[in-house]
Amino acid sequence: MRAKDASVDAALGRLMDPNRLDRAKRIDSKDVEVTRDGDLILARIKEYRVELDPATKTILHDCEDWSSRLIKREFCKHVGRVFLGMAPQVATDRLDRIRADRKSWRFDVPSEA
Ligand SMILES: [Zn+2]
Repeated sequence: MRAKDASVDAALGRLMDPNRLDRAKRIDSKDVEVTRDGDLILARIKEYRVELDPATKTILHDCEDWSSRLIKREFCKHVGRVFLGMAPQVATDRLDRIRADRKSWRFDVPSEA
């Protein structure tokens, strides 16, 4: 279990900086609500929403930090936290697939905010 957690850390570390990863870990699970978990993931972290769709290779999210990192395709703490809540195997698998194909993913803000 510990080794798998470490691999989620490593996979997330390639998509976000260490400070944000640290802050992601401090978000309480009661502030995280995953409303749909399949291929398409819909989640709410505090007052923000996260939508991750592998079919269209899109991640939609609406916090300020995210907006400033869209171009670099880096995660903010909320998006990181969604992955920390998944089973480690599932999380690393999804993260590896995003990273392998990072340039074709679209990081964006929801159009109807
Ligand atoms: Zn965020």
